[in-house]
Amino acid sequence: MQVSIDHTAGFCKGVEYSVSVAEDELKSGQPLYCLGEIIHNRQVLNSLCDKGLIIIDHAVFSQLKDVRVLIRAHGEPPETYRIAKENNITLIDTTCRIVRTLQQRIRDDYAESALQGMQVVIAGRKDHPEVKGLRGQIPQNMFIISCEDELEDVDFRKPVRIYAQTTFNVACFRSIKARAEEISRSIPDEERGPLMIHNTVCGQVRRRESALVEFSGNHHVVVFVSDPSSSNGKFLFDICRANNPSSHFITGPGDLQPGWFADAQSVGVTGATSTPLWLLQKVAGKITEIVSSQQD
Ligand code: SF4
Repeated sequence: MQVSIDHTAGFCKGVEYSVSVAEDELKSGQPLYCLGEIIHNRQVLNSLCDKGLIIIDHAVFSQLKDVRVLIRAHGEPPETYRIAKENNITLIDTTCRIVRTLQQRIRDDYAESALQGMQVVIAGRKDHPEVKGLRGQIPQNMFIISCEDELEDVDFRKPVRIYAQTTFNVACFRSIKARAEEISRSIPDEERGPLMIHNTVCGQVRRRESALVEFSGNHHVVVFVSDPSSSNGKFLFDICRANNPSSHFITGPGDLQPGWFADAQSVGVTGATSTPLWLLQKVAGKITEIVSSQQD
């Protein structure tokens, strides 16, 4: 039986950069705080915390003074930078370049049409840290929606710009786009506000979706490794399961069940954008061990 690791899996560039900066900074032996969990993966997080990383929330952050705080790939709202300045906090800013560009774009686009009552719509999860960072970029008129039904609150008689959280579900964004265009078209020309829709889902996430469809279809059994707290992980796993019912979600080698591999000719091991390659290799090694013991 063949066990293959998905070559498109592993950290996305943004997470890879944050983790590598944290590792470098921790070498100095000085305390390093991180605003929120740097990555939605328990194993990687525990290993960084063992090296001295201290995860804090915004309430603790606002009480700190004269320390170093790492900003993760998801980015932060301007308020965080203001507090840091006031409290003499040195920020080690690892906001992903793509997220930073999106923040800037929202600010610029809003400034252009704020006087016309511009409304900004973000397709994303309200409680996601990236979305909280995006929300803080403009003072008002922002809607965070997770499905097309929530567009009903938006006034399409005024200018509307729609963007996506970088890890948002592409199919869901398409439905939101279609519904927004439909609502806009239903308004008479002279009353309709300009509508612009920007698919800002990260290219890495988009490519992962199509690569996963192919990968999960090419194996008898798929083992998907992720932390249950990763929204990207849940979403990518759903793609695998829709395409291959013999897909299993695990957090690490300890969750593997020998019965899954009894009749399999090939097993594919893959994961979320927050799953490190070393963990996928560990899982693949354990599957090989299980299968060899079944053949003895
Ligand atoms: S998914 Fe894309 S945009 Fe989001 S942190 Fe990773 S590389 Fe950056």
